[in-house]
Amino acid sequence: MATQKNDKKFRLNIKKAVKQNLSEIKKLSESKSNTCKIELNGDKNIFLSVSSFNGQHYIHIRSWKDGKPTKDGISLTEQMWWEIQRYSSELDDNILQLQQGNQDVNYKSHLGKNWHICVQSGYPFVNIRRYWTPPGTINIHPTKQGQILSFEMYNRLKDSFIDINKCIPDFDQFQPCYMQIDHANVLGALSCSTCNPTGYKDHTDLLV
Ligand SMILES: [Zn+2]
Repeated sequence: MATQKNDKKFRLNIKKAVKQNLSEIKKLSESKSNTCKIELNGDKNIFLSVSSFNGQHYIHIRSWKDGKPTKDGISLTEQMWWEIQRYSSELDDNILQLQQGNQDVNYKSHLGKNWHICVQSGYPFVNIRRYWTPPGTINIHPTKQGQILSFEMYNRLKDSFIDINKCIPDFDQFQPCYMQIDHANVLGALSCSTCNPTGYKDHTDLLV
């Protein structure tokens, strides 16, 4: 229950961050050096940018129109951004295999909060998407919330890691929640809504 509550709170925070802070994203992107707003796709005007809300920083992959960010896009937490960088070499290996014609590529890594980064044979793009587990089931299913990146856009995203990291205060000191002390025991880790968004009740078999 606590997990669901936290998840709801997280989604609400994201929603608020997006709703109330589209102008804030614009302001921050303009006030900091222009390396905090990086174009990923010239045709569609999709930009990578950073904003802060309630002391948290969010990394946006978002469409812009007439110089303003739109609701069309995704907001990543610092941890999700950190995880994308951690998984990037694995992702690169899978993209290479896909481009070489391997029909069995099916890569998916958890970024936290049920968000995954995926690449799959037959779909020549990187998919950053939120999943969910329908009640009473254990398999995760994709939701409409997500962002598809062409490989070219993904390469620009990778090229932007260093510049965007510099826009997030103390990001070089960042530690994901699972490296922190409260995750040292199994129950602590399982009750974390970031690491285990489906809730620890689904995993009571692991607690014996
Ligand atoms: Zn965690």
